[in-house]
Amino acid sequence: MNPTARIQDIYRPAAERVKDFAEVERRLGAAEMAAQAGRCLACGVPFCLGRGCPLGNVAPEMAANVQAGRWRAAWEVLSATSPFPEFTSRVCPALCENACVNNLATDAPVMIRQLEKIIIETAFAQGFVAPVPPAARSGKTVAVIGSGPAGLVVADALNRRGHHVTVFEQNAKPGGLLRYGIPDFKLAKAVIDRRVNIMRDSGIEFRCNTVIGSDVSAAYLQKTFTAVVVAIGTPAARDLPIPGRELRGIHLALEYLQGVNRANSGELPAAPITAAGRDVLVIGGGDTGSDCVGTALRQGARSVTQIDIIPEPPAARGYATPWPDWPYQLTTSSSQKEGGARLWHRLTKQFTGKNGTVSAAEIGEVRWELSPVGRPVKFAEVTGSVRPVKTDLVLIAMGFTGVPANSPVAAGLGLTVTPQGQLAAAADRGIFTAGDTRTGQSLVVRAMTDALQVANEVQRYLA
Ligand SMILES: Cc1cc2nc3c(=O)[nH]c(=O)nc-3n(C[C@H](O)[C@H](O)[C@H](O)COP(=O)(O)OP(=O)(O)OC[C@H]3O[C@@H](n4cnc5c(N)ncnc54)[C@H](O)[C@@H]3O)c2cc1C
Repeated sequence: MNPTARIQDIYRPAAERVKDFAEVERRLGAAEMAAQAGRCLACGVPFCLGRGCPLGNVAPEMAANVQAGRWRAAWEVLSATSPFPEFTSRVCPALCENACVNNLATDAPVMIRQLEKIIIETAFAQGFVAPVPPAARSGKTVAVIGSGPAGLVVADALNRRGHHVTVFEQNAKPGGLLRYGIPDFKLAKAVIDRRVNIMRDSGIEFRCNTVIGSDVSAAYLQKTFTAVVVAIGTPAARDLPIPGRELRGIHLALEYLQGVNRANSGELPAAPITAAGRDVLVIGGGDTGSDCVGTALRQGARSVTQIDIIPEPPAARGYATPWPDWPYQLTTSSSQKEGGARLWHRLTKQFTGKNGTVSAAEIGEVRWELSPVGRPVKFAEVTGSVRPVKTDLVLIAMGFTGVPANSPVAAGLGLTVTPQGQLAAAADRGIFTAGDTRTGQSLVVRAMTDALQVANEVQRYLA
């Protein structure tokens, strides 16, 4: 292999990986990664961290240390900006790599996400990552509602500053969508357990199986703790209220993915919804839809079809999104490379069924009006294009609408839910919001970045 070339395929062979739920990426070795680190140009203005990574991970210094085999120094640089690199190095779309100067002319950026992964995995293997109980306690208490990436980051940051932090989580285990949404083949759950154990040993208390708003009232938390941070994600999924939606065999994507994740970890004896032997229709072309595709293929679906209402994006970066902006461009996930059909500009009109169970979806085509730079702006249905597509399992993966207006957490804390489903803080009363709850549905890296900023705000309140 040319050591100066980017390694193109980092996945286990599709035919092999589709038979199990183990992580799809193969682990790259130290020598391979040292060669890759050598591709970093050490730019005077590193766009990877200035315009790419929301956390501001200092990729040039990470690369220099990996190339020289200075693992502790590499980990110190990485952990100065990133609280949990083991999560982002597995699931991040790598905004940094898009903004890498190597990506400007060659379309072959430095493998920054893989550098992050080998640094943090080496740090764990060599024992650098250890509990960090604070030297002294402040006597102040913080309740964090929700243990997704945002809740975990806030808890970690405030515990380090000496406050007593208790994390309340409605599910059986911490992790939020990292554990119950994202499939094991992208992020093994042992990776979350490893971090949560370190957090427990650092003095953070986790109270799982506790729904705030019913098991414990939010108002009680406000009375009992010095500050409260709400990091409940975006609990409401966008549904598809068309005729036939009530038929059996039609589910929200997260309902399906949660069940499979719970079954894989032994929390449930079997997945409540299985794609085995079924014709699966996934409605929605994003990350969640793609996770449904990979999961359905692993369960042994007879066929998998994924549809999206938007037109197929261009194969290459267009005028609208010049480097280093995030490109409007076709991406194909590892799951989509494993199998299944992908259809664009499709609109689902209704579901039909037999004996109360879905048997087909009536799907039509739409034609898009494009903006001068090629972005879809408005669609019209193509007359006479509606055709039945055979399906006996429909998974609706159309995103999330945010925090519902009637959220008991919001009501209990006297917080306003915005029309966009975001929860505004009441910092003057010691109530803060973080992650997707505050910003709307986003990415793990953005939820973590937001949570670090919120932890600073809480610190100012507690100081
Ligand atoms: C299927 C799927 C795949 C995704 N894949 C990716 C990906 O590959 N890369 C990426 O960057 N992003 C991905 N995302 C987005 C990413 O997971 C989220 O942006 C991120 O998890 C948000 O973090 P959060 O902490 O704000 O919320 P969440 O992760 O949603 O955590 C919220 C937590 O609050 C808990 N909670 C809610 N209400 C209560 C209550 N009343 N009482 C107690 N606890 C409560 C929930 O149980 C949950 O644990 C994906 C999302 C989904 C749904």
